[in-house]
Amino acid sequence: MRGELLPSFNCLKMESNKIKKEDKKKMIRLTCQRSSCKYEWNYKGKSKFYATCPRCRSTVNIEKQKITKSSLSKES
Ligand SMILES: [Zn+2]
Repeated sequence: MRGELLPSFNCLKMESNKIKKEDKKKMIRLTCQRSSCKYEWNYKGKSKFYATCPRCRSTVNIEKQKITKSSLSKES
């Protein structure tokens, strides 16, 4: 007998093994605070507090940037 038709969706398996690990490397958008520079870049370094502007090498306060970003709810 050749009448057996197996539905193809039997092949579906639960992909429970796929666990997405959270990326620990969060990029932070930073803007240089120097008025003469204003360089923007994605910081993905270790420091939580300070980063160095790749352009002018001035210190950028990360915490301050975060606060500024979150308080800026205006959409221009
Ligand atoms: Zn700069």
